[in-house]
Amino acid sequence: MTQEKVNVLIIGSGPAGYTAAIYAARAGLNPVLYQGGQPGGQLTITNDVENYPGYPDGINGPQMMMDFQKQAERFGTSIRNGLVTKVDFSNYPHKAIVDDKHEITANAVIISTGASAKWLNLPSEQRLNGSGVSACAVCDGFFYRGMDVVVVGAGDTACEEASYLSKICNKVYMLVRRDEMRASQIMQKRVLGAKNIEVLWNTETVEVLGEQEVEAVRVKNNQTGEEKDIPAKGFFVAIGHEPNTGIFKGILDMNESGYLITQPGSTKTNIEGVFASGDAQDHIYRQAVTAAGTGCMAALDAERFLAEKELA
Ligand code: NDP
Repeated sequence: MTQEKVNVLIIGSGPAGYTAAIYAARAGLNPVLYQGGQPGGQLTITNDVENYPGYPDGINGPQMMMDFQKQAERFGTSIRNGLVTKVDFSNYPHKAIVDDKHEITANAVIISTGASAKWLNLPSEQRLNGSGVSACAVCDGFFYRGMDVVVVGAGDTACEEASYLSKICNKVYMLVRRDEMRASQIMQKRVLGAKNIEVLWNTETVEVLGEQEVEAVRVKNNQTGEEKDIPAKGFFVAIGHEPNTGIFKGILDMNESGYLITQPGSTKTNIEGVFASGDAQDHIYRQAVTAAGTGCMAALDAERFLAEKELA
């Protein structure tokens, strides 16, 4: 095992991680950032990003993440390919193992490992991801304004996505696999009261149809076995997200879904010198701009922590 000592270690490379890197590097903290298994994070599987301020004409997700990376590098962040596979925060300074072969000791750690949308794992869903298949109505709904779309799921996220889409789309079909929804009453009421949302109960997705882009969704009633095709241009999967926080289990405080818990108004975790930002600690907003915001907060919190320790 090779060993290295760094000042600030940033784990993860979405908007939160890169923003933390920009701030930490400009503050002279010499950050080292490990990109993880999906360099650039969830935005790299998005096409156009139109709601990030400062890009009046929109920008595509992968390009935006390359720009974030460039900006972090410009100020001296050491950006590296590699996956942090284990951490040990039981003694200070903190330790992290990269790819099971490189041990890093760090004065401060910023976690920005993000979250991953859950998918149905149908081959057609994967093939058409970004071409009509999406896991984010706020990001992609606009492209289907005036059209018919399908939403899968029956939790609060699915209801929220369906309500959002109902305001811009012609018609929203919501596929619920049971005869009831898991979502809170208020969210269900909103969905059931919307004129252009049709809930299809006991209904599962068989296949997303279309060559280059989504044309229709083949669904099956799991009570009667009846199949039918619903013409639609957008297919929104809203069956939950999973924070990428497995390596912190039993080490950092997290809620029952695995989202890291930070002290209100800060990015501090329950361990001194470990800060959490982005979707790994946010199950509510989950936007690039909010992730970037908390990445900035994490760097400022780390800077203050190191100054107090007289390490900055
Ligand atoms: P949930 O886990 O609450 O719901 C997931 C939904 O997806 C369930 O209805 C589930 O069905 C369905 N589902 C799962 N797998 C499949 C599948 N393979 N095929 C079809 N359907 C499937 O996730 P959410 O993201 O909705 O919510 C996560 C947490 O965030 C919750 O605590 C929620 O309350 C909260 N939240 C709160 C919001 C708010 O207050 N504004 C907004 C969004 C989320 P089944 O019920 O049959 O298991």
